[in-house]
Amino acid sequence: MRAPSSMEMLQRLVAFDTTSRNSNLELIQYIRDYLADCGAQSTLVPNAEGTKANLFASIGPDAEGGIVLSGHTDVVPVDGQPWQSDPWTLTDRSDGNLYGRGTCDMKGFIAAALAHVPAFQGAQLKVPMHLAFSYDEEIGCLGAPALAERLVGSVPRPRAVIVGEPTMMGVVNAQNAGGGIVAIFTGVEAHSSMTHLGVSAIHFAGDFIHWLNQLQEELAQRKRSDIDTVPGHTTINVGIVNGGTAGNILARECTLNWGYRTLPGDDPWEVQRRAEAYIAELLLPKMRARHPDANITLRRRSFVPALLPQENEEAAELALQWTGGNRTYAVPYGTEAGIFRGHGIPTVICGPGDIAQAHQPNEFVAKSQMDACDAFIAKLTRWAETR
Ligand SMILES: [Zn+2]
Repeated sequence: MRAPSSMEMLQRLVAFDTTSRNSNLELIQYIRDYLADCGAQSTLVPNAEGTKANLFASIGPDAEGGIVLSGHTDVVPVDGQPWQSDPWTLTDRSDGNLYGRGTCDMKGFIAAALAHVPAFQGAQLKVPMHLAFSYDEEIGCLGAPALAERLVGSVPRPRAVIVGEPTMMGVVNAQNAGGGIVAIFTGVEAHSSMTHLGVSAIHFAGDFIHWLNQLQEELAQRKRSDIDTVPGHTTINVGIVNGGTAGNILARECTLNWGYRTLPGDDPWEVQRRAEAYIAELLLPKMRARHPDANITLRRRSFVPALLPQENEEAAELALQWTGGNRTYAVPYGTEAGIFRGHGIPTVICGPGDIAQAHQPNEFVAKSQMDACDAFIAKLTRWAETR
């Protein structure tokens, strides 16, 4: 079989609409078939409903010290975005960039990894190359925990994980932790002329949002200068508010989908703990004083652990050899890196494209970035031959 170029592979991967709300199984089946054609077996780790799957595969000797190339197969929605070309067709607009949903975040890296599989097979690898592709990263890293667990339990201990999120091929060894929480306010319906008879879930949700704003201001005072991310402090965001049925009814329910991000080394549970305490000690008693049926619950939706530089020195050293870079970086966004690191494997983030293009209309990856990623994987392959 003729080995596809990274760009040809990217063209195939972009054509699958793997928006997180959809199944990713067609794409996973495509990758499985491609790997089988290359002579590589793969393992699927499906979700409970069987509608999505992670995939991992190992190429080379059954030995310790391999390198994991990791990526997520899902992409964010294109709904309502002003795209100038079909987001599901890789488009070369002759400006040095390749356009399409997921080109930068992060099918570009997955395409480069897959395009090199025939080269891995042809090389005299002394240590294996592992591929690890997940689902549902974009909605809170939901697939990766089971993938990391199965991979670590199935293959001899790898030496490092490279998570190929877009870093312009810079080596990132620190990232924030992030938590996603749903707050459900349950009030008691009443006619809006009779406010003494009910409790508005929306008004109490408003109190909570106000409290989150105050907490955010307090935490911003603890800005850190030892880490080069902007802004260098904890951030909080209420992303979705849902509630109410009519302008003249006290709302029975209001749901807030909110989250926070904390710097590596900071306590990643502080915001949740303080929110729980505020609700239990102040807000819920105030609501219940109005009506005993009122309630507030916090449900954790997702948690992405931080990545700390000092735990990943070995991976950073290797990745810098393959990029030719001379320094590492920290990023404020979350990736699956902390999940792999949680299994004790040194992990860094390094992939083609600029995070500034991620999630945008007219998302693109520069061809020069794909070339740099190809060069990175080629160097890594030579390294794996000379262990
Ligand atoms: Zn991503």
